[in-house]
Amino acid sequence: MNILVINAGSSSLKFQLYNMDHEEVLAKGKVERIGMESAILSYEPESGAEIREVEEILEHTTAIRKVLAILVHKEHGVLSSMDEIDAVGHRIVHGGESFSSSVIVNEDVKREIKRLFDLAPLHNPAHMLGIQAVETNMPNVPQAVVFDTAFHQTMPPKSYLYPIPMVLYKKHKIRRYGFHGTSHAYVSERAAAFLRWPLHELKIVTCHIGNGASCAAVLNGRSVDTSMGLTPLEGLMMGTRSGDIDPAIVPFAMGKEELTLNEVTSMLNKHSGLMAVSGLSSDMREIVEAMEAGDRNAALAFDMYEYRLRKYIGAFAAAMNGMDVLVFTAGVGENSAAMRRAVCRNLTFLGLELDEPANEQPSAAERAISTTGSKVQVLVIPTNEELVIARDTHRLILDSKEDVV
Ligand code: ADP
Repeated sequence: MNILVINAGSSSLKFQLYNMDHEEVLAKGKVERIGMESAILSYEPESGAEIREVEEILEHTTAIRKVLAILVHKEHGVLSSMDEIDAVGHRIVHGGESFSSSVIVNEDVKREIKRLFDLAPLHNPAHMLGIQAVETNMPNVPQAVVFDTAFHQTMPPKSYLYPIPMVLYKKHKIRRYGFHGTSHAYVSERAAAFLRWPLHELKIVTCHIGNGASCAAVLNGRSVDTSMGLTPLEGLMMGTRSGDIDPAIVPFAMGKEELTLNEVTSMLNKHSGLMAVSGLSSDMREIVEAMEAGDRNAALAFDMYEYRLRKYIGAFAAAMNGMDVLVFTAGVGENSAAMRRAVCRNLTFLGLELDEPANEQPSAAERAISTTGSKVQVLVIPTNEELVIARDTHRLILDSKEDVV
């Protein structure tokens, strides 16, 4: 069975085509700058060089049409016909309280995703465009949706409620949802498999630290707390997002700097975090490079990022009354030995001991970076959200076929 995985943003669309018989990626790529005359389609078949085409792509429907065309292209394609795509799986950022697992798309599901536009105005409308674009181009192909929030639906009320008037929760569903759930679920499962220990017996703190960043407390395989909240702005310091701040800063800064609500929202999402403190970059690679060259602001940005991350790890260890495993994943977690070293250096009170040479070793494989005597197993697990979307879609399609029989 071949499954096309789609992550549709407002002006971009990433895709991966999986053959599920061997869970192999046949081709992947993305369309960027949708809505512009000079949109870019990049495409990489499993064997063969990357292709880039610059052309006018004004809508998601056209973007999907171009993706399908290149997948069946005589020379560069990996399929002989579009009929070889059995299903499409979409990443959806916000599933609210309605979705605690992946589902097949039907009219009710679409209506519910639309109802959630309010909670994720930057993401869910774009995902919906992706779903509609597939419907237009491949009307008979089943689609499934996989939610970033679903894994965290197991959080207890004491984790997901905010201590504000309950009417805001009851009327408007203002609560913690958490994000990156597909990644937190995947890496915690992989961690248990790597350690050959049952997932339901482990206390795991997962750190998904990329451009966006979040931690999760995974107790016996279930998310019991996470750092992101109603939106992906809460929690850890990120590339351009502030993470936790005193909410009173918002009206105070608005008054002092004569900012509108939109401006202050944009400031916290796009002009804060590593970027704001370093004045240099939101990219951890550049921060580390500048820090090593003696840049003080870069060093401060690095320290603040590490300190805030470490405080969350400590908090989640306390939330679970212990931590057996600490997992690092995503761009920074998988690649930055310096960040992992800095975090682990000050977690020795938990009995955690980093294996320094193992930590420094660059590798794309799942690996342990703690010493054999460490009370906490520290692992680096490359995340793979697309694979989870492909697997969920595959499972749902097989289940739905069984139902019909
Ligand atoms: P996204 O959240 O967009 O999926 P990624 O998980 O790919 O992002 O993470 C991207 C970030 O990972 C980059 O902005 C960069 O800061 C960081 N990163 C990638 N490689 C390295 C590296 N070798 N050292 C430090 N940071 C890195």
